Amino acid sequence: MRPQEILKSSFGYDDFRPGQERAINAVLQRQNVLAIMPTGGGKSLCYQIPALMQDGITLVVSPLISLMKDQVDALNANGIDATFINSSLDYTEINERFGQARRREVKLLYISPERLDSEYFDRLAELPIDLIAIDEAHCISQWGHDFRPSYLKITDIIQHLPTNPTIIALTATATPRVAEDIKDRLKISSEVQTGFARPNLSFKVVKDQDSDRFLVDYLKVNSEQSGIIYASTVKEVERLYRLLSKKHFRVAMYHGQLNKEERRQNQDDFLYDRVPVMIATNAFGMGIDKSNVRFVIHDQIPGSIESYYQEAGRAGRDGLPSEAILLYKLRDVQIQHYYIEQSERDEASMAAEYQKLQAMSQYGNTQKCLQRYILNYFNEDAEDCGQCSNCLDTRESQDITIEAQQVLSCIKRMNERFGKEMIALVLTGSKNQRVRQFRYDELSTYGLMQRRTKKDVTELIDFLVASGYIAPDGGQFPILKITATGLQVLLGKQRVFRKVAVKVDKALSENN
Ligand code: ADP
Repeated sequence: MRPQEILKSSFGYDDFRPGQERAINAVLQRQNVLAIMPTGGGKSLCYQIPALMQDGITLVVSPLISLMKDQVDALNANGIDATFINSSLDYTEINERFGQARRREVKLLYISPERLDSEYFDRLAELPIDLIAIDEAHCISQWGHDFRPSYLKITDIIQHLPTNPTIIALTATATPRVAEDIKDRLKISSEVQTGFARPNLSFKVVKDQDSDRFLVDYLKVNSEQSGIIYASTVKEVERLYRLLSKKHFRVAMYHGQLNKEERRQNQDDFLYDRVPVMIATNAFGMGIDKSNVRFVIHDQIPGSIESYYQEAGRAGRDGLPSEAILLYKLRDVQIQHYYIEQSERDEASMAAEYQKLQAMSQYGNTQKCLQRYILNYFNEDAEDCGQCSNCLDTRESQDITIEAQQVLSCIKRMNERFGKEMIALVLTGSKNQRVRQFRYDELSTYGLMQRRTKKDVTELIDFLVASGYIAPDGGQFPILKITATGLQVLLGKQRVFRKVAVKVDKALSENN
């Protein structure tokens, strides 16, 4: 049978989704391949169909135990022989399953990366493995947002297998750097990448509003819809759970400090639509295949665009219109700063994390199309989506070239050695000790914006950063430098426009 026929006969689908056929053909020609497809893009079929077309078995490395069982159950329900090996099984069960695999009684064998240690090396080496599929392959890269040391064992096991299997690595989120790293480590030369765009998602940034009120109002209108609310800390998840339950919304919660049974129960309540809304930390969701999630709200900003897009992408896997909303508050960026500070990383990877966070926080400040911003981050060209909160922002654009020049010129006069806090202090004419110590109160730009608040000025700086006129370096308290486009503004060769709320308009016209 051909791949197209198996698609119909075993899975009941008529057409391939973008990229699936190319990835399948590469595998069938025994090329190692990296498949980068958006969440819900249908990555699983890229190895499940070849698995059915080969004599031996396909080993699937997958990080989540709960997910593994669901996937195997789904395959069995389609009449496909598959099983899994992970720490939830006892010794006898594991033996039995290895036996089935040796006797070619299963086509797919799922295994968690933690199990790929020496204990199983020899037993895996006895199996007729034709293909290894590595799910969530970005976990192998330290440049990724979810590095897992256990993934490094994959390369050892591949070397130990006498059958010289083909390799397919799959991920939804890989920057070019991560993609290169995956290919290097797994000796992959081909790549199938489908566009990252999710046309059925409307992205929205809600800035500096009372998040609790927003959530309550939102759920009042959407309470029957299935959705996920993400927060960064266990404490915040529990607080939101209490708040929303008290308002009589039907919500469940999920985080790493619940016991296994509670997690399983809550996850199932959500998956089987017994409770429509899940409030969770990022511990929830990897590989969750729930197609009818209508909204994903981030109550707090995550640490990178990769994480954000992966989590937000859990909305609308069925292709129907869905919303991805970020409630942006500056103090939440500090929480992510704290996580990076606490992580025991070396200096280079720490700087990389700060840079990722910077890009994420710029997402909250940009006035460009949000979908386009994300796609550009992944090096993909795109048109404006026409449906995100920035595309739909009908406020008038104001020419703020003069203010922009004031900021840029102040940065220049301070020799591009400071971050936004200090720059804002100088521009607002603060009597701060450090300002005087550096004698910045003698600069011609000192106090140029004294009629504006410091918060207002830092927001203006954030906007200029998000628009690419100023570039932060990768540090914890980024130093701001003027970019080439920023220089054009300073030289009067380019104008800057910004959409501003009415109350700010007033302040601006008073200033002029
Ligand atoms: P991913 O792992 O890329 O996030 P999955 O492999 O879990 O996505 O697939 C997401 C959903 O899309 C699943 O419910 C799957 O059955 C369905 N699907 C996959 N391929 C197709 C196809 N060609 N046509 C229709 N539905 C598909």
